[in-house]
Formats: sequence, structure tokens, C-alpha cells
Amino acid sequence: MIRIQQLPPTVITKIAAGEVIERPASVVKELLENSLDAGSQRIDIDVEQGGIELIRLVDDGHGIHPEDLTLAFASHATSKLRTADDLFRVSTMGFRGEALASIGSVAQVTLQSRQGSDPYGAEISCHGGELSPVKSWNGSPGTRIEVRHLFFNTPVRRKFLRSIPTEIGHICEAVTRVALANPRVHLLLRHNGKLVYEVPASAGLKERIGLFFGAEVRDQLHIIEAGPATARLSGFIADPACERGNNKLQYLFLNSRWIRDRSLGHAVQEAYRGLIMTGRYPVYFLFLDVPPDSVDVNVHPTKCEVRFRDSQALYALILSVIRDKFRRLDLTPRIPVSTTPTFNPTPAPQPMSPMSPMTSSGFTPAPPPPLPPLPAFTREAAPQQPAAAAPAAPAEDFPLLRSQPVNKVIQLHDAYLVLETPEGMLVIDQHALHERILFEQLKQRIRQGSLETQRLLIPEPVDLRPEEAARVLDQQTPLGELGLGVEDFGGGTVLVTSYPAILGDRSPTNLLRAVVEHLTSHDRAPTREVLLNDLLSLMACHAAVKAGDPLKPEEIDSLIAQRHLAQDTHHCPHGRPTALLFSRHDLDRHFRRI
Ligand code: ADP
Ligand code: MG
Repeated sequence: MIRIQQLPPTVITKIAAGEVIERPASVVKELLENSLDAGSQRIDIDVEQGGIELIRLVDDGHGIHPEDLTLAFASHATSKLRTADDLFRVSTMGFRGEALASIGSVAQVTLQSRQGSDPYGAEISCHGGELSPVKSWNGSPGTRIEVRHLFFNTPVRRKFLRSIPTEIGHICEAVTRVALANPRVHLLLRHNGKLVYEVPASAGLKERIGLFFGAEVRDQLHIIEAGPATARLSGFIADPACERGNNKLQYLFLNSRWIRDRSLGHAVQEAYRGLIMTGRYPVYFLFLDVPPDSVDVNVHPTKCEVRFRDSQALYALILSVIRDKFRRLDLTPRIPVSTTPTFNPTPAPQPMSPMSPMTSSGFTPAPPPPLPPLPAFTREAAPQQPAAAAPAAPAEDFPLLRSQPVNKVIQLHDAYLVLETPEGMLVIDQHALHERILFEQLKQRIRQGSLETQRLLIPEPVDLRPEEAARVLDQQTPLGELGLGVEDFGGGTVLVTSYPAILGDRSPTNLLRAVVEHLTSHDRAPTREVLLNDLLSLMACHAAVKAGDPLKPEEIDSLIAQRHLAQDTHHCPHGRPTALLFSRHDLDRHFRRI
């Protein structure tokens, strides 16, 4: 016979614990949040054996009243919420009253606390849900909590724990998130008695980022500060050149709480589109502040996922603020010459100066100094005079601008242009730059409806596999908007009837084949905007001069002059840089002139 039974409270708590407490780092996170809610200025954490043996946290917060100690371990007991309406006004990290009950049910916990105004404090233990009597405790104001033998009574969960380095890695991550979101709190983490982090209260956000992720990241940050009344976005985004192979250095905080949000993460990724290669990830530390009633934080047991009332508006805000920031920056990647791999300076006799970094092993090159920011290049200063006729421009659409004579340019390997700029030496990838310029021009023409197309007197048949032909014909309209006219000839053959004039004498068949490859490489049909963007970059790529094309001097001049006209010319549409700057300062330094 099957009957329904009410589960005993101890089992209910253990079930809840399964959601909240996954591993030692979850305990650290919950305890840290309690200390923050208590207004602590300083929090010391000691862990042993990756937190499995011991997690001890000591704070200087407002403490717990002795009579409330037993309640602290009761489930759904909290000092942070009174009514259901309060759920939509939450400004504390906790409010569910679940954490201590959960931790107490799966570990051996001792909680000691004293409120500042009281002459003495009290302590209580909770072992696997069993409460001890309350005793008096003679410690300093604040709270001290020890969590031992996590999962001692749930062997299955204990088995799920990973190696000590993995668990301590998760703990470090939990501490990092809190440290980034709370720059005024002094934090200390020790593992098996050894100091892991100590972050003084004086270290602001940027310094904290440097502390956790190194100077390389810290020195490539751009500040973000945007604050319309409804939502405020602040923090730092790293330069596109600082990209990574994974998304670990992407931090998004909502009202000081670390969150995971696919949509908002996508907004940032989208803002970097074209500036970093596909498959690479930008680095960012962003803080979004919204009124508590515009977000529901009660949709996930650990509150790291939330539901926004208007997530589209936030998406748009993030995208536009970051895009806007990039528009105002010069993003030409700068080469710290010292990292050039092939050049290995032999120790040369050095003019000794008290500043020379000499070590016993010889001369150690000083780390490159922080690079002075380039003045953003001024597009307004670009030449206004109309171009003279282009006798031999690489493509039809390539007006030659002679008004800004560029001296001292050389072409190397028929692929790179090297030129002198006020800042130093610029090396340009001729294909990447031309591709970006054509991309911008095409985009502008399409926006203005003035794209030139070339009709083919005799349409060119292109044989495709039937499913390929279907994919292409599906996109007949957007392709037509880009000047690539295609028609069905039946039997897998597609006729090219027109092509964008920008292609010049390059084969429209090859362009079509590239389009086919692009369309069939995606499972789902891309959105119209993405498709247009992708096709534009394909066309630009096909029409642009290639590496290996020797250029005439006037073509070189033209290309370089155009660099100042098009927007966003530091990166090709696929996100590769178009130019690299070797600064004068670095050159001087490495040739030991300064
Ligand atoms: P919540 O944080 O959701 O309220 P918890 O189970 O984490 O639930 O904590 C229960 C209660 O214990 C809190 O509401 C708070 O009043 C008290 N508390 C826990 N940790 C601390 C601390 N470090 N300092 C002061 N009070 C604390
Ligand atoms: Mg809590």
C-alpha cells in the first residue's frame, strides 16, 4: 500500500542543505554573506584540508543576541525579513534563514557571538542538527564560527568532494567574489595556516583586481561609469587585447551580489564583437545596481541566478555603455617589445645607475613600464578634401586621398606596412586593415541604400549540393540587399545574377561558395542582423587586398589615409588586430637609449 507521510524536520533540513551546501566553498560563501550582513569591517577565514576538516570565520560585525543563538540554527529563521512584501525589498545578502540550519545539519558547528553593547557573549554547537545548550562565551564583539567535518553524516556527499586543490580553488573564488564586491572590507584567507590572501580595506576595486589577477589585467582596464536613474552600471572592462580562452575572468555583480546571467553576459560579449576573435572571452568586472523591487533574487537557492523585471533594458544598457566606451578609445594593440620571443639580449656592460636593476644572475630587464595612453586618434582631423582620381586603387570603391601624405611607409613581405607615427612604429596588416575599411564602407552604403551592384549579362551558374542550394535560396532577400543576386536554376544549381561592385574583378562564384560554407556551418538560421553582419565581413574579406599582393605606392598611401576615415579600424571584422604599435618609448628603452 502506498501512503503519504510528512517527512521529519531533520530530513527536510538535510534536503534543503543539499541545495545550498554543495561543497566547502558554499559554506564559506554563506558565512561571508552573514558577516557582511552584520556590517563587518574585517573578516578572517581559516580553512584546513580544502575546508573539509575545518572552516573558521571570525568577524567584527554586530553579533547575535545570546537568546537568538538557538534560532540562528532553526530553518526559516532570520533577522532580515519580516513579511512576504519584504521579499521585494531585500537589501541584505541573506534572507531565507536557511544557511546556518543547513550547515548545522551536515557538519559539526560551533557558533560564538557577542553583541558590542553586551558585556559578554554566548556560544552554542550544532552537530548534525543536534543543538547543545547555550553557554556564556568571553570573546570580543563579533561572531566566530567553526565548521568541522563537513558532510560527516552524509557520506555520499562527502564522496562527491574533489581534491583539496580543487576545493580550495572554489573557496578562493568565493572569497574573490566577495572581495571584489566589497572593497571596504578587510579580508584574510589562510589555508592550513598559510596565508592565501590578505586584502586590506584600503585597496580599492582596481587594486583588488590587481591583487587577484595580476598587474597585466589591472593595467589594461577601462573604467565604466554610467548612471541613469533606474540602473547604474560601473566597474571595469579590460582592453580587448587582454582576452582569455575561457570565461573565468568575467565578473558581474548585481546590487553587490555576484550573479550568473546568460543574457547580460551575452550583452558584454556582443559589445566586444569584432574586437576579439570568436572563441575568445573578454575580461570584465561589472557592477549593476538596480532598485531591489525590479529584480527577484528569490529564484535560486544560492541566489546566484536572478530574474529581472526588464532584462532587455539592462541588456541594451550594457551593450550601449560598453560600445560607447570603445568608440572613444584607441584600441590599437601595443606591443610590449620586451616580450618579443626571438630577441634575447646578452648581458651588455651597463652604465651603472642606482636605479639599474642588477641581480646576482646578471642584468634583468625591467618589466615594461605602464604604457602611457595614446591620445585617441582624432577622426575629425582626418582630411576633408575630396580625393583625386584613383589611378590604380585596389578596388573600385577606394578613393585615393593624397591630402595626407604619409612618409616613410614600407611594405614588407607583400603583407605588412610599416610606418612612422608620432607615437612610434606602426605595423599594419594590409589585408586586415583593408578588410575593415571595406566592411565599414559596405555597411554605410547599405544603410544609405547606395550600394553599387554589378549585374551579370550572362548569369553565372554555380553547382551546389541540393541542401546547400536550399540554404542559399532561403536567404535570397538578405543576399540581394548586399548586392549578391541569386536565383534557382533547379537541380542544385544556383545562378549568380549580380554581385557587389566592390568585388572588382574578383570572382563572384568564390564569394557565393564562401557564403554557402558560412550558411551551412550553423545549425540554426542566424538572425537577420547577424547574417548581414557576417555576410558583409565575408564580402569585405573577399574584396580586400590579400597578404602576398604587392601594392603600388599610391595604393599604400590610400590604404593608410583611409585608416583615419573608417571607424573601428583597429580590428578586422573577425576581431584580428589590423595594426600593432611599437611605441617609441619601448624602442628607445630596448636599444638602451633611455
Ligand atoms: P539568513 O542569512 O538568510 O538570515 P542564516 O541561516 O544565514 O540566514 O542566518 C540566520 C541568522 O543568524 C541571520 O538572520 C542573522 O540574524 C544571524 N547571523 C548569522 N551569522 C551572523 C553573523 N556572522 N553576525 C551576526 N548575525 C549572524
Ligand atoms: Mg545567511
